[in-house]
Amino acid sequence: MAFEGLADRLQRTMKKITGKGKVSEQDVKEMTREVRLALLEADVNFKVVKDLIKRIKERAIGQEVMESLTPGQQVIKVVKEELSELMGGEQSKIAVADRPPTVIMMAGLQGAGKTTTSGKLANHLRKKHNRSPLLVAADVYRPAAIDQLETVGEQLGMPVFSKGTDANPVDIAQEALEKAKEEHNDYVIIDTAGRLHVDENLMDELDQIKAAVKPDEVFLVVDAMTGQDAVNVAESFNDQLEISGVVLTKLDGDTRGGAALSIKAVTDKPIKFAGMGEKLDQLEPFHPEGMASRILGMGDVLSLIEKAETNVNEKQAKELEEKMRTMSFTFDDFLEQMGQVKQMGPLEDLMNMIPGANKMKGLKNAQIDEKQLVYIEAIIQSMTKDERQDPSLMNASRKKRIAKGSGTSVSQVNRLLKQFNEMKKMMKQMTNMPKGKKGKGMNL
Ligand code: GDP
Repeated sequence: MAFEGLADRLQRTMKKITGKGKVSEQDVKEMTREVRLALLEADVNFKVVKDLIKRIKERAIGQEVMESLTPGQQVIKVVKEELSELMGGEQSKIAVADRPPTVIMMAGLQGAGKTTTSGKLANHLRKKHNRSPLLVAADVYRPAAIDQLETVGEQLGMPVFSKGTDANPVDIAQEALEKAKEEHNDYVIIDTAGRLHVDENLMDELDQIKAAVKPDEVFLVVDAMTGQDAVNVAESFNDQLEISGVVLTKLDGDTRGGAALSIKAVTDKPIKFAGMGEKLDQLEPFHPEGMASRILGMGDVLSLIEKAETNVNEKQAKELEEKMRTMSFTFDDFLEQMGQVKQMGPLEDLMNMIPGANKMKGLKNAQIDEKQLVYIEAIIQSMTKDERQDPSLMNASRKKRIAKGSGTSVSQVNRLLKQFNEMKKMMKQMTNMPKGKKGKGMNL
């Protein structure tokens, strides 16, 4: 995960102060010194760190902490709030034009992830907001860029407007806008050309496109893995093009996190989305507060809920609840549930969003074995329809057949059956609980 080093260090520092019934100035000094070093090591901009530490210190030595009943926790709250504020505080939503289409211009250096992110954004707008975007291929210098966007469009089943490499990018953008109006596309996402470095010709061209189509959003796509460079790139693009927001890509990688923590402070433009992988559904709205919580090991409930909402529709959730209540939960439902959880992304990422999960014994460093899920899926798929509905049918010869069919062993089949029965038992207990007690122990 991104931020791993930073998160570890900050969490260790915070642990020292958590339970303190009294926090002295010396404690605060020590804590801020460690936070400062951790941030600098994570490649956060020097000036940004200096200002942040000053604010944390002022607040931590101030009344709100000293007079609190739980000063240790209050200090941590201050650190979390300041980290969140540093990244923009409130989540920054995507613009909606008064009269459609809403135009989004994507800019950035080559390789930052512009084309991929254009597709991801179109997918997000359709899936989450029920919109019908038009993708526009305005990068005419790299022939492969047009093909790449067309492939993305094909994968998503979405229209792509392109005019080959001989047309002028400004004309392409303008014509695309007309086309979107005719076809009633409510969003237009323009994938522009990138260069290896910020250069004048590129900026001129982007300026012209911007003047011609008057976009509602100009998103700069930057690669989080490039650390301070990402911040410098953002600063120059913002100076010359006046961007409206940033999409930080490759946050799934091993980045130290400096870019995420510095960009807003340096450019005063919010991070709107984070790219969390190469796949077209791996884009997340950026929640500064959630990200601050995640860094401090407190989980990110907002993102978790958002993920669940995008992947499980209300109807499915109601049906599941009904099944749990009436105890008619079957292996088919189990399979469907697994599919939904898988769509939410790698399990390890999900674990990081669950508050307290990283503190649970054995979980923090546990490699979640996604292979197990593949086996479970194979075992269920090897069952007959009747067996899936009624596991009590299972006898030795059926188990043998299933193990063979799924490439597993009888003991693996037994284990799954046992887990399934335990799960059902747990559901029974939960659904029999008096109202109001159901959430006990699961206070997400
Ligand atoms: P462009 O030149 O800016 O259009 O960049 P591309 O969209 O072609 O992306 C460059 C590379 O980065 C591709 O291999 C993408 O799959 C990869 N990429 C883009 N976004 C992400 C992300 O969020 N995570 C990861 N791991 N890879 C990404």
